[in-house]
Amino acid sequence: MNKRGISRRGFIGSSLAAMTGFGILGKNKLYGDAQTESADKPKIREYRTLGRTGFKVSDISLGAGNLNDTALLEAALDMGINYIDTAEHYGRGNSERTIGQVMKTRDRKSVFITTKLNLFMGKRDKEGLKARALRCLERLQLDYVDCLMIHMTPTADQVKHEPYHEAIRELKAEGKVRYTGLSSHGLEHRLAGPAKDPMEKVVLAAAEDGRLDVVLFVYNFIQKEQGEKILKACKDKKMGTTLMKTNPVRFYNDIKAMFDQAKEKGRKIPEVYVKMIEEYEAHAAKAEVFKKKYDLTSNAMVRDAAIKFCLSNPDVHAVCPTINTHEELENYVALSGQRLKPTESEMLAEYNSTFGQLYCRHACGECESACPHGIPVNTIMRYDHYFSAQGREKHALSKYASLTGKNAGLCTDCAGFCEQSCPHGIPIQGLLVMAHQTLTL
Ligand code: SF4
Ligand code: SF4
Repeated sequence: MNKRGISRRGFIGSSLAAMTGFGILGKNKLYGDAQTESADKPKIREYRTLGRTGFKVSDISLGAGNLNDTALLEAALDMGINYIDTAEHYGRGNSERTIGQVMKTRDRKSVFITTKLNLFMGKRDKEGLKARALRCLERLQLDYVDCLMIHMTPTADQVKHEPYHEAIRELKAEGKVRYTGLSSHGLEHRLAGPAKDPMEKVVLAAAEDGRLDVVLFVYNFIQKEQGEKILKACKDKKMGTTLMKTNPVRFYNDIKAMFDQAKEKGRKIPEVYVKMIEEYEAHAAKAEVFKKKYDLTSNAMVRDAAIKFCLSNPDVHAVCPTINTHEELENYVALSGQRLKPTESEMLAEYNSTFGQLYCRHACGECESACPHGIPVNTIMRYDHYFSAQGREKHALSKYASLTGKNAGLCTDCAGFCEQSCPHGIPIQGLLVMAHQTLTL
């Protein structure tokens, strides 16, 4: 609770499931029930060949964006996770340091470690990039990384940043890097400015270029067309494919209660909030029908199915969720080797057609040119995802705070030009207003 006596997630916001009614499914464990009843820890049950690297990686892998707990990493490795995705700036280097502390006692060859350097911050010439890569190795306490990626690649041009490729050639020759690749999930607006290309264009440019071995991108059951094109191109080029943001289902808890509380406190309810409540009520009614139809007793059942959707695609090599706790770890690992059942497939299709319009697609930004204030809509919704879906609250707050003058504070009293130009019909103005509530103290 904040000073205003309402949840920090904002008096109207938290996440999608309250809007869809899933927030009232009850208190539940983050992930499935059956596996955690066992006293035995779950184990990875499937390993997939990471493209031309030939390395067999765990289908459930570790997104280390929030990693600062050596015990959590030890547990992940003990359960059979053997692919770790980190980056130079995750936790200001603490993610890499945590990996370093653990890996010095582990069999180095049994784990595939990827780190990343972005090309819009810090030195970008060959020597500067090499120096940054060596600092990654120092933090990781390793002689080499399996893969060094270009982080958050904003444009197809950046795939061909020659100083990066020269640095990679030399680092490979020195035995410090084995493979290279890139990640793409939309722009870091604050750092890179408005110029950008869609994720699909960036990753397909990487496949075309031929020098990159592994990619990390967005694929999920709502945002699947782009991802499937990318997966096909990567398969043709024998590239490794790793996924992020595989779960587009979010949880809007207590939205109505917060709204009522705000009213009780005599706060003025802006028109855009009233519109959101109307949306909520319409969706909550549909959600009741949906829950009954699919016999859903917890939010986790939808999210488990979302992960299984990705695992059911043989061209996906590893799903890399951000894992914050031991409970999350066990529940993710328990999904290893699983496939989507026909009823789950039907359930996801219906979720998509009924509630998919409430999900702002990652790495999109098509509506941003319609905003007279240049608000980075897609970046803001990604920060909201960090907060609401990934548990990276501090990170999300600090990222949002850095959007000086370009945040969603202006959205409350706007005519909603962005919303009118969204091809997916997303009620983005209300989502932006809720994100602003969530991401400001
Ligand atoms: S609101 Fe629509 S157009 Fe704008 S970024 Fe989200 S999905 Fe893309
Ligand atoms: S609601 Fe208005 S101010 Fe906010 S992003 Fe959309 S167009 Fe811009």
